[in-house]
Amino acid sequence: MKLHKTLYLKFLLAYLILGVLSFIIISAAAGIMISKYLTRHQADVLYRKAQLAAEDIGYGIRQGTEGRDETLLHIKELESYIDANIRVIDSTGRQILYSGKQTASDEVITFPDFDSTSSGTYYTTGSFFGAFEEPMLNVFYPITSRYSVIGYCVIHYPMSEIYIMRDNLLNIAYISMLIVYVLCLFILAFFSYAVYIPLRKIISAAEEYARGHMDYPLEINRRDEMGYLSGTLNYMAEQIARAEDNQRKFIANVSHDFRSPLTSVRGYLTAMIDGTIPPELSEKYLTIVLNETERLTKLTNGLLELNSLNDKGLVLTYSDFDINAVIKQTCETFGVQCERKKISFEVILSGEELFVHADKDKIQQVLYNLIDNAIKFSNSNSMIKIETTEKNDMAFISVKDSGIGIPKDSINMIFDRFYKTDLSRGKDKKGTGLGLAITKEIILAHNQNINVISTEGVGSEFIFTLHISDTDE
Ligand code: ADP
Repeated sequence: MKLHKTLYLKFLLAYLILGVLSFIIISAAAGIMISKYLTRHQADVLYRKAQLAAEDIGYGIRQGTEGRDETLLHIKELESYIDANIRVIDSTGRQILYSGKQTASDEVITFPDFDSTSSGTYYTTGSFFGAFEEPMLNVFYPITSRYSVIGYCVIHYPMSEIYIMRDNLLNIAYISMLIVYVLCLFILAFFSYAVYIPLRKIISAAEEYARGHMDYPLEINRRDEMGYLSGTLNYMAEQIARAEDNQRKFIANVSHDFRSPLTSVRGYLTAMIDGTIPPELSEKYLTIVLNETERLTKLTNGLLELNSLNDKGLVLTYSDFDINAVIKQTCETFGVQCERKKISFEVILSGEELFVHADKDKIQQVLYNLIDNAIKFSNSNSMIKIETTEKNDMAFISVKDSGIGIPKDSINMIFDRFYKTDLSRGKDKKGTGLGLAITKEIILAHNQNINVISTEGVGSEFIFTLHISDTDE
């Protein structure tokens, strides 16, 4: 699968979108909000000025023509103070006073569209009925005389001033945004170092593993999730490589172990048919052939058994039984073999009885395999020691011989299927190398352990554990 939309591209795209969106939001939404806020704020300020002016103008109007000139003077002063035009109109919309540029004195200016009744809002924005070319903030305050409204004081403030203030504030916002945006770039760079680069390495390694190159090196020496993931992947690759190796060895071993008895059976039978072996000797050779077929049967049974033990469905039939009694019984079945090799047993049991909780038949098989091996690999006139000990709620069962022992570099492999040490090959030609593999599977199925201590030329000791039954009486 080719990577088209890489995570990195997606993050880069998200980063660009973040930049564009921030810019749009600041310039549009924030621009509008700041304008509204500044307009309202300025209107508040001007409203208070308009109130003062309206009181002054009301007084002037009541004084007649003289007062009018004086009021105009006051208004002019106020205008230069607040830097805005002030206009007075009566309630019909006729202009009475204007502090800005004067028209011909006799010209009567009216604002017919001025609606004195809609005084709910105290400010508007716009050209004030076409009086200005640019948009203005127009703040109204009613002028009262004897409790009735006789006109309005209107202060005109250019919106361009507000826009300048807005733009200054917006510039601050843009600079802040730019700083955050650059910081985000650092985060993106850090992300690429912390996540993206190791992720690419892991993907390459996974692709190599998928192609079967299990020895592809994947090194991410970090203590975070990426390091953990790469460690797990490495471990997985090692396990797969080991499993593949085991499978190869397994097939090689199976083929080898089946082929040698078959070759000898075939050889003897051919020799009998073509007369190389005379008929009077055929009985002797047929016995050999029979032995070989027995070996093949043993091999096939061993394989089938291992397979069934490996199945997840392996059901152990647990019971509480006396392991000491089972040991004695199993030793007895080896009577003939022991006599032939002049081997004796030394059985040291922890007490009269030792009840354990396990599958009796399977444990008997384990004991059988271990004692069988001990006899096979012991020298004549030797002793095999079988011992049971108790510790806490565990029983330890040991089978110890003083035979050929196991070489150091083989000790880790003796529980593998088909494994036989070079030392043992001469001693036991019939061995299948499956006995200990079966033994280990059985002990593991019980959630117990089996261990071996061995010295080449001195002897071996196999020890396994079992759970002592709770009803041990
Ligand atoms: P086998 O059928 O060959 O005995 P096992 O799985 O029982 O197969 O044993 C595997 C190998 O482990 C043996 O071939 C032998 O090399 C070694 N081994 C097992 N038990 C002993 C022992 N008591 N002393 C020395 N070597 C042993």
